[in-house]
Amino acid sequence: MKPKEVLLTFDYELFLGTKSGTVENCLLKPTQLVLDILKTYQAKSVFFIDTLYLCRLEKENSSQCKSDLTSIYKQLETIVEQGHTIGIHIHPHWLDATFSNSLNNWNGENKTRFALSNLNQEEINHVVSESVRILKPFLDLNDNLTYRAGGFYCQPFSSFAPIFQKHKILIDFSVMRGYKSTGYQGLYSFDFSNPPSKFIYRFNDNPLLIDDSGAFTEISVNSFKLQGISKIRNSIYYRRNKEKPNFKRMGDGSGSGNIIAHKNKGFLNQYLINDQTFSVELLNPELARAYTKFYNSNSYIHFVSHPKLFTKNGLEGLNTFLSNIINDNPIFDYRTMIKNNIT
Ligand SMILES: [Zn+2]
Repeated sequence: MKPKEVLLTFDYELFLGTKSGTVENCLLKPTQLVLDILKTYQAKSVFFIDTLYLCRLEKENSSQCKSDLTSIYKQLETIVEQGHTIGIHIHPHWLDATFSNSLNNWNGENKTRFALSNLNQEEINHVVSESVRILKPFLDLNDNLTYRAGGFYCQPFSSFAPIFQKHKILIDFSVMRGYKSTGYQGLYSFDFSNPPSKFIYRFNDNPLLIDDSGAFTEISVNSFKLQGISKIRNSIYYRRNKEKPNFKRMGDGSGSGNIIAHKNKGFLNQYLINDQTFSVELLNPELARAYTKFYNSNSYIHFVSHPKLFTKNGLEGLNTFLSNIINDNPIFDYRTMIKNNIT
């Protein structure tokens, strides 16, 4: 029987609205906690680093920014040492963000350039080169590089595919199967309503179209339906526990997130809807049962998680889930998944 695949990915970033939150609480602390759990189970993962944020830290003439960048670099070193992969996550709106030294806060409200496709070719070239440069010490440049689009806005992929190819960024993790979204004033959008039936496949410059001779590989994000007894149990658990300290988010910023809708259901709202992505921030020890049930009858789970949104409860849920499945020896490494799925 084909071994099961559990892909754990993390988007390493601050909040993207008026209040960015601190590096300590949004990145360093929650990431360290999840690294400890992953170590226990020898589970390898991918951390997608918000590269343009790091570039801004580097350029800002502020001692706080300099020390933040030093702390982040130190953590990235630990992540790599522990066998995880560093990936590229691009949020172009960092080009327009402003920093307040007195508040130690980034304002990222200007979302007119939220997607890579909002930039012209010269700008795309620049931000992609800068992204690779800033992460260089942590990337394996002999290997193909990995990418997840900020907010999943990777369409049209053709607007940056040649530039990605030049930099060997050939593995994309941005297709959120079944979901679609339109961003600020319709300036950017994605529509993954009809993905191919395969989870992992090659493509040329359209990540929704399988092309076995294409240069790129898609490792798409799946979701599951929380329903029946699991849904009831989870909502009871939520109502009983939501005020407890373990339900509190670790990140100290606040986002103005984009609304992402599933084609089958209304708005993405944890606990209230059926279709859920697999995320540490949505998890809890009760929901871990539903994840385990899904694992038992399916072959592929792609987690998308954000350290800034972690709660103690969510981390405990991850621990429970991994302890439930670890003896089954699932595959955690995306390279092995590619090998097994693409011949
Ligand atoms: Zn992001």
